[in-house]
Amino acid sequence: AQPDAVLRLEGIVAGYGDATVLRGVDLAVPAGKVVALLGANGAGKSTACAVAGSMVPTAGRVLLDGEDITNWPAHRRARAGIYLAPEGRGVFPSLTVEENLTTWLPSAADREKVYERLSHLADRRTVAAGALSGGEQQILALAPALVRPPRVLIADEPSLGLAPLIVEQIFELFGELRDRGVALLVVEEKASEVLALADTVAFMRLGQISWTGPRSEVDEERLTSAYLGLA
Ligand code: ATP
Repeated sequence: AQPDAVLRLEGIVAGYGDATVLRGVDLAVPAGKVVALLGANGAGKSTACAVAGSMVPTAGRVLLDGEDITNWPAHRRARAGIYLAPEGRGVFPSLTVEENLTTWLPSAADREKVYERLSHLADRRTVAAGALSGGEQQILALAPALVRPPRVLIADEPSLGLAPLIVEQIFELFGELRDRGVALLVVEEKASEVLALADTVAFMRLGQISWTGPRSEVDEERLTSAYLGLA
């Protein structure tokens, strides 16, 4: 066993009603590491994120720092340091950037730390969050994590529909959080920018991890076979 895994999924079976989606998923995310979870549409990646963040599986265990949190409700997991990066819905569109930050960071000193790091947010502090681009909203939703780093950050397709420059900024933030000891699980459908950041890559296929290993072992051939289901 690797005692340093902050988040661990063990033998997870989960689904919706009668439909089983995850069929025995094992996944470990260590502190200060990025695990990229890749796989085709419908493979079960989002369901794996949900099991880590809020959903109670049919079988298997979810461990946080070795503690069994399988049956904990979402708010308790959040308090324990599991941050499920929201897709846009994490910000209040009618509140300004400053007001949004205040809901997570009541201390003005903490908000200043965000503005120092993210000057484009500082320039927009009086703008309604709903008027920001999708990528800027995503950065706003991630900003509190920079000041109060979670134990685990889970991002489900953070690059989806965003301009390359914003994607680059988001992955830069992930890199900073990794360097500060956060355990990151980043889901993408295609191998993308995430490969440059990942320490470990896990491919998911038909509700199971079909291959996992260090990023250095992921080459074109591995990618092709993983996506064709030959891994
Ligand atoms: P995607 O890239 O499309 O999100 P994914 O790998 O993340 O794919 P999941 O979203 O976990 O896969 O979906 C796996 C299967 O579970 C799919 O067949 C999907 O239709 C089904 N599914 C997902 N969410 C629900 C839900 N809330 N209710 C019923 N079925 C669902």
